[in-house]
Amino acid sequence: MFKSARLKLTAWYLLIIMMISFLFSIVIYNSATHELARIERRQHLWSQRMMGDFIRPPGSPEWFEPIETNEIRQRIIFMLFLVNSAILVFSGVAGYFLAGATLNPIKDMVDEQSRFISDASHELRTPLTSLKAAMEVSLRDKNTNLADSKTLISESLAEVNKLQSLTDGLLSLAQYQKPNGNTEVEKLNLQELVKSAVKNIIPKIRQKRIVINNKTADFEIAGNKYSLIELLVILLDNAVKYSPPKSTITLFTKRNDGSILLSVKDEGPGIAQKDLPHIFERFYRADSTRSKSDVTGFGLGLSIAKKIVELHHGTITVESKKEKGSTFSIRLPAKHSS
Ligand code: ADP
Repeated sequence: MFKSARLKLTAWYLLIIMMISFLFSIVIYNSATHELARIERRQHLWSQRMMGDFIRPPGSPEWFEPIETNEIRQRIIFMLFLVNSAILVFSGVAGYFLAGATLNPIKDMVDEQSRFISDASHELRTPLTSLKAAMEVSLRDKNTNLADSKTLISESLAEVNKLQSLTDGLLSLAQYQKPNGNTEVEKLNLQELVKSAVKNIIPKIRQKRIVINNKTADFEIAGNKYSLIELLVILLDNAVKYSPPKSTITLFTKRNDGSILLSVKDEGPGIAQKDLPHIFERFYRADSTRSKSDVTGFGLGLSIAKKIVELHHGTITVESKKEKGSTFSIRLPAKHSS
């Protein structure tokens, strides 16, 4: 599909360039023939005047050689033909490369979107199939009583809740994938953002009796409030989710010239070296995480976090060792006081 689009775009580029070149050729040819006509007129006048002054004896050498304007005209046409052919070949090649350069980012975006759709459908299909199967089995079973039905409904509800959080995650990711999505930027206080994010997950923190050690400084950054809170909620939620009960999560900040570093450090199980390069990929979950049925998730959080950081022209990194906890750090451009 992109090959034919590239050829079509090349043809359009070529058509435009050749039209311009052709127009220029007509202008050049017209002004050249205009000049030649003037020369012809002068030559004619001059030869008439000379003829009036002298009578050339027959057989004497040619003393007045008129310029052959017709020959010059033909040479101009030939030159213009050559130049236009060269432009045609050159712009054909250049147009083909230019069309490729124009279409490649669009192609990447379309590829990324179809990958996203197929990944999302795949993730949605598995829980939906098991939900459907459980309901069908229960419907076919003639011995199903009210208690069984209630158990099935509550189990199904739990699955539906999971599916809802998956679709919420997908929607959020799609939102951040838009080139100009969520761009309202304002001056923000980092401590306030951290407080709002912590507030969001208070029930989970309390449930696991986790201690939050907030050592963030009073820095200012420029960004989108809601997406930055979402980013902090993702990092804090993961830290709580993967940490053992009663452990401590520490938040600290550092200022380097031009940027602010915010880190979230936990005392959880850490991340294996082999998983580290992949955890920011969509739907990636470490094997150790998948095997733990009590740790829910779809592997979307960190890819959303990465998109948010990129939208803020920042970076996100992780330092982690198995059984030694993890530290996720985001670096964002500092807001300069003006
Ligand atoms: P989810 O947590 O929903 O699985 P994420 O994208 O947030 O998805 O994280 C991807 C994977 O990275 C997780 O499955 C887990 O294996 C690993 N991970 C993320 N944060 C932590 C953490 N704080 N401690 C240990 N592992 C983590």
